[in-house]
Amino acid sequence: MELFKSMDTSGEEAKEVQANTDVEKVKCLIIGSGPAGYTAAIYAARANLNPVLYEGLQPGGQLTTTTEVENYPGYPEGVTGPVMMEDLKKQAVRFGTDARWGLATSVSFSGENHKVLIDNKVTIEAESVIIATGATAKYLGLDAEKKYAGSGVSACATCDGFFYKGKDVAVVGGGDTAAEEALYLAGLCRKVYVIVRKDFMRASKVMIERVENTDNVEVLYEHNTKDLFGGNGVEGAILIHKMGTPEEKEVRISIDGFFLAIGHTPNSQIFSEYLETDEVGYIQTEAPSSITNVKGVFACGDVMDPHYRQAVTAAGSGCKAAIDAERYLGEKKR
Ligand code: NDP
Repeated sequence: MELFKSMDTSGEEAKEVQANTDVEKVKCLIIGSGPAGYTAAIYAARANLNPVLYEGLQPGGQLTTTTEVENYPGYPEGVTGPVMMEDLKKQAVRFGTDARWGLATSVSFSGENHKVLIDNKVTIEAESVIIATGATAKYLGLDAEKKYAGSGVSACATCDGFFYKGKDVAVVGGGDTAAEEALYLAGLCRKVYVIVRKDFMRASKVMIERVENTDNVEVLYEHNTKDLFGGNGVEGAILIHKMGTPEEKEVRISIDGFFLAIGHTPNSQIFSEYLETDEVGYIQTEAPSSITNVKGVFACGDVMDPHYRQAVTAAGSGCKAAIDAERYLGEKKR
């Protein structure tokens, strides 16, 4: 029996797990099934690497939670996130990718080959591993966020902003993402509120200046979101100004869209013992490649990219990871 160090999905508790003795050997293992994972699979399959891809907790990744995708090249009429992911999967399978249900629960990257435990049961021994586990947008934890998901609540202004053209929206957060999203939305919407819980934004100075100097953007400092309201979709938000102080008061704003920009959590917890990450957990790669600090392990998509986070950039980095894996395996054989 092989022992693995396992973490739960929040990465908090480490425990020892015994894997089955059966080990399946593969040339190329891809973990994750968003645009990065499927694109890596298309390229790896066409390079005869016989990739095995595990889809993870949310097959298709974050895009399966969005409705219309209009900014992915090649779909002039737009496409829904789930259909696009299904198309990418079909393309990967067409060239021989073995796409499977299953979640990578722990890894051991200390040997010549890399071992990955699936669903705490099956061990895969891989000559190369491509990590495409993505990132998860943070939410405030309000019931209303679930109620209005896809009908007024979004965690991606670049993806969904267009649907709010000419309307009033709010962005929550005070970092660079919130600033960027507010400026992007300001070009489309009538009015953009930025809801910041402190009395300052932590975004870079230049971004704060741009936000504050944009006519149709209003920054609501020291405001927390208590709830959202509306019939079929979001019609407004209930905010608390100066929460927890004697001057605390409730404020209502009318909005059609509510955008979260309070950070993302890269899904890299199970690799943290082996792979170098930044302080947030984004896997570090040797720019411009997908090469990590462990030989034969490559990372692509949102798990290594705090900056762009677009389906098309994730797909591009998946392509790079497959090419890097193929070159690595080719050199190893020599
Ligand atoms: P950050 O972690 O930098 O900022 C998150 C923001 O959300 C903070 O203002 C934080 O408030 C706020 N927040 C967190 N939780 C809550 C909550 N529960 N309620 C209300 N507000 C909350 O995340 P970003 O995504 O903005 O940026 C991540 C990294 O990526 C940063 O290093 C950033 O600089 C970088 N980045 C760079 C870009 C660029 O260079 N073009 C573009 C986008 C991001 P508080 O300040 O009070 O903690």
